[in-house]
Amino acid sequence: MPELPEVEIARRNLQRWLAGARIAAVERVDQARFEGDPQSLLGHVCFGWERRGKVLLGRFSGGVGVLSHLGMTGKWVRDDGGRRAHVRVRLTTDGGPRVALVDVRRFGRTWVGNVDALQRLAQWTRLGPDALMGALDGPLLASRVGPRKTPLKRRLLDQSVVAGLGNIAVVEVCWRASVHPHAPCTDIAPAAWVRLAAAIRAHLDFVLEVEDGDEITYLGERAASNPFVVYGRARQPCPRCAEALVGESLSGRPSVWCPSCQPS
Ligand SMILES: [Zn+2]
Repeated sequence: MPELPEVEIARRNLQRWLAGARIAAVERVDQARFEGDPQSLLGHVCFGWERRGKVLLGRFSGGVGVLSHLGMTGKWVRDDGGRRAHVRVRLTTDGGPRVALVDVRRFGRTWVGNVDALQRLAQWTRLGPDALMGALDGPLLASRVGPRKTPLKRRLLDQSVVAGLGNIAVVEVCWRASVHPHAPCTDIAPAAWVRLAAAIRAHLDFVLEVEDGDEITYLGERAASNPFVVYGRARQPCPRCAEALVGESLSGRPSVWCPSCQPS
């Protein structure tokens, strides 16, 4: 499932493939997951791609833009001929590459239109500060989460608190910071917030490094390997203390933690 690192890798790839290229054709293969007039992109040159949390924004000449949310399984890929299943949108450039949004489960969505209007959509405006930004330190993270009794994990998954963290990131970050993912936010000490902020950065940098490439394989896909430190590794030994990791869900989303390093 795309989380911040996977969306950031998609942004870098789209930037590399499309920046400076002119759009020659837009195929709205899956009309139900596409909003706006695909014709409005034709003839426009791509200026570049930005990202906020898990949402991508492409800027084009003429004040036109593309907003892209990858949903559960979406990925932008090079599509230079050959048959690809589950293509939802396809962009062809003048003499340049063709790219496609592939999305097996169809939770992704693409908007095309005036770029200022796209940036007023709730999908963009409701997002909190990006988790990859350099200024995210312990005090800022604590103030974003707020003094609530809510489990930490639930607050960190709220994209209006910090944008970009998904279930995998929260499991990994809490293990790195030695904080129980289901701890009430009010129980977390100032030093633990500092560790959590540092762990967010360390986790994101780690995944960006190991997953970088033209096409990401999500966990659950055939041939996927698990690059994560504790996620998906319940009952295996904790990499830090060798105690068996515990797996349990919160609101249907799997958590993994070490009962010794992350006491509740
Ligand atoms: Zn441990």
